[in-house]
Amino acid sequence: MQQSDGEMRTIPLVDLSAQYRAIKSEIDEAVLGVLDSASFIGGPRLEAFERAFAQGQGVAHCVGVGNGTDAITLLLRALGVGSGDEVIVPANSFIATSEAVTAAGARVVFADCREDDACIDPREVERVATQKTKAVIVVHLYGQMAEMDRLVAIAKKRNLFLIEDSAQAHCAEYRGKRAGTFGAGATFSFYPGKNLGAYGDAGAVGTNDPAVAESVRMFANHGRKKGEKYDHHIEGMNSRLDALQAAVLEVKMRHIEDWTAKRQSIADEYQERLQGVGDLVLPGLFSERPSVSHLFVVRTKQRDLLREHLRTQGIEAGVHYPIALPFLEAYAHLGHTEKDFPVSARLAKEILSIPIYPELSPEDIDRVVNSIKTFYV
Ligand SMILES: *Cc1c(COP(=O)(O)O)cnc(C)c1O
Repeated sequence: MQQSDGEMRTIPLVDLSAQYRAIKSEIDEAVLGVLDSASFIGGPRLEAFERAFAQGQGVAHCVGVGNGTDAITLLLRALGVGSGDEVIVPANSFIATSEAVTAAGARVVFADCREDDACIDPREVERVATQKTKAVIVVHLYGQMAEMDRLVAIAKKRNLFLIEDSAQAHCAEYRGKRAGTFGAGATFSFYPGKNLGAYGDAGAVGTNDPAVAESVRMFANHGRKKGEKYDHHIEGMNSRLDALQAAVLEVKMRHIEDWTAKRQSIADEYQERLQGVGDLVLPGLFSERPSVSHLFVVRTKQRDLLREHLRTQGIEAGVHYPIALPFLEAYAHLGHTEKDFPVSARLAKEILSIPIYPELSPEDIDRVVNSIKTFYV
């Protein structure tokens, strides 16, 4: 959109219309193709996307499901994790991660995160694990992969399923290997604002284990095996990726590597230009696991003031997340205090997400950087 009053235009946290405008003809053609085919559930478009996504992520199997939350529940159920089992979840995440554990019938146990990558702290996983622990869910938060070597070792030693909640980490790598290849499987969300986003709710499970993939597919489709209609082997649920969303996602798969590179180059620029500004702490840099920068999260003791300053400058900023999971009302029954999760408690007060998306223009990057600098003068 062309606007003459450039200084007053709000820079959003994400800009989904800019992305649609850039690929409109491809998207429109794919969507109209689905409408013409009148094949809305399952079918060739779903299969094509599942193949493309599995290949892109470097996993053997991808199963499209209804959303990223269901993906976690379905993977837990497929692994046989449920009633009587404990599942370790990072204290610093979106509630979907822990909600999905409860939905599978298991008990949520929180572990604190690390200060430098904001992901689950392997030492805390060891500390909270018990005889009842069956799985640990690692969240590659903000696009930053967690410290997988140590987490894989802990999971192996304690015989736990390692699940990667990769809702924010499409295409992210740890020593050249992508999410989904480290443990039992990875779950993905294609919520519109994610690095790979549908035009509605959508999600997937990626795994190298064909039996796990088949079981997820069965649970997600009323307990049916592939090709069956009224043979229900178990009670499952209805959580399928529909053909319209699959068609949109398949188009977007053609662009995801390019978009990821753009996010990373914007993050590099922020790193360079915001270094040493005021009391800002920038996201940690890990050469063996570069972030795919789903969010660019800075830290400052003056978070609320900086956020308000940016708002007056027409720049949106967000907090991901303002209340760490154990301190939400939903988990009040667990009786946790800030002493139990000191790092997550502190981060929640200091973190601020500034705009980052592939279409963010050089002029807008300038505006964000300069507005932050003027806050500190
Ligand atoms: C978005 C998100 C989810 C849930 O995805 P939905 O598709 O919205 O259900 C799960 N975990 C994390 C870390 C997320 O960011």
